[in-house]
Amino acid sequence: MISVSKALDLIKSHSSQLPTVKMPLRDSYGCFLAEEVLAPISLPSFRQSAMDGYAFRSGEISELEVVGECKAGDALEFELLENQAVRIFTGARVPDRADTVIIQEHVEAGGSKISILQLPEKYANVRKVGEQVQAGDHVLPAGTKINESIIGFLASFGITEVLVFNKPKITLIVTGNELQEPGSHLKPGCIYESNAIMLESALKSRGFDSVRLLKVEDDLESTKKVIATGLESDLLLISGGISVGDYDFVNESLQANGVREIFYKVNQKPGKPLWFGKKESTLVFALPGNPSSSLTCFLIYALSALKIMSGNTNFNLDFQSGILKHRTFNKFGKTVFLLGTEKNGEIEIFEKQASSMLISYALGNALVMIPEQLEILEAGESVQFLPINRN
Ligand code: AMP
Ligand code: MG
Repeated sequence: MISVSKALDLIKSHSSQLPTVKMPLRDSYGCFLAEEVLAPISLPSFRQSAMDGYAFRSGEISELEVVGECKAGDALEFELLENQAVRIFTGARVPDRADTVIIQEHVEAGGSKISILQLPEKYANVRKVGEQVQAGDHVLPAGTKINESIIGFLASFGITEVLVFNKPKITLIVTGNELQEPGSHLKPGCIYESNAIMLESALKSRGFDSVRLLKVEDDLESTKKVIATGLESDLLLISGGISVGDYDFVNESLQANGVREIFYKVNQKPGKPLWFGKKESTLVFALPGNPSSSLTCFLIYALSALKIMSGNTNFNLDFQSGILKHRTFNKFGKTVFLLGTEKNGEIEIFEKQASSMLISYALGNALVMIPEQLEILEAGESVQFLPINRN
């Protein structure tokens, strides 16, 4: 049995970036840029009024004659004289002959004349060309993760496609005779299937939206077949059937499909029977079926592989330090993952911790990692935790 850090090292060494692809900006959320972005145009690309008011040629003037109007989207020119102004609105192109905009609150309007109540400084309320970004500027480095702000920023240049590392194609296989679809009438001895929707949500919320879901009963031949189909992906996740029971057929089916085992079993709780392997470039994680184990193994291991595949250069898990509010034991000689809450850096660990339960996951916001060598942690000691359920 290997340690958590050895398992992470093996995942790191067997995962690689997917090829790059030109992707529609609209679909690129969560992807990583494979090249830097240079600004194709200046922003703004023309002088814009920052306010609703009047554009004029700055000078010692107390009254202006209004000779026209520029609204957003117009591109009008005026032969403005020194004592003339143009009514203008936010975002409108400022005529070439004007240099300053006086806000409408600082004038008294009467017919075609306005009186200036408070003279603005020259160039006031006019956004300069390139004030945000000059055409040709290096605006985003390669490796940037695309989020909603970056999508908006790139769209403001008129960009519609980005060169990114491709999104992994993911297949999720759920095994188990006892599993029923939520919404159906629960038969005796059966439970509602919850891992598929949970893992699918975990993937989609992180931008991994190419997810195919397959379900299979605990039967060797059917499991072999479904795994053969699942291997036509970049990443295959299998839930359940990886333990040593008489009806756990995943290990044998993976072998029969020529998937090479890289490790099986990690010295941790929950999630010990995690299996990781590879066939050609497809990575396979067989996650224990117990829901809490499944999610823990997904968050710690499968997400780490997905990070590398999608071009994220920061492989490290985003663990943070917190201060324990109370004494905690680790009686197992294993790395233990515990659910709890973190508030202002203080960690409280829930009493209910079991691989079969999701209640603590559902109520928690921190996955605390207690290293295998630590038996007791006193109140006030520092622990590492992974923020969860935060957005
Ligand atoms: P397994 O890993 O297949 O031995 O399953 C371990 C435990 O997790 C059993 O109690 C299963 O009923 C339960 N389980 C397995 N898969 C799921 C699932 N998709 N949703 C909910 N519970 C599951
Ligand atoms: Mg099972």
